[in-house]
Amino acid sequence: MAPPASPTAVATGPLVDEKDPAAVALGYTADASKVDKTKHPQYVAGSACSNCALYQGAAGSAQGGCPLFPGKQVLGKAWCNAWAKKVA
Ligand code: SF4
Repeated sequence: MAPPASPTAVATGPLVDEKDPAAVALGYTADASKVDKTKHPQYVAGSACSNCALYQGAAGSAQGGCPLFPGKQVLGKAWCNAWAKKVA
């Protein structure tokens, strides 16, 4: 039996697959440390979904929603080329 989800872990939906056409179009990479910097020269070291303005997961959460992938979740450590710095 899995432990009950904590109230803060309200993220739902399947994880985005890097191979989804929408993910490919955005250069979504499940592990930001593996972003192809040749393909994505705009990649900023240290950027990831978890510090993106569009990330809907709670601070420090492993995964959460992103409006660019409706009904799905992105990993906090992932990245895509629409990344925008979260203003604290
Ligand atoms: S827009 Fe931000 S939160 Fe959404 S997938 Fe791209 S980097 Fe992650």
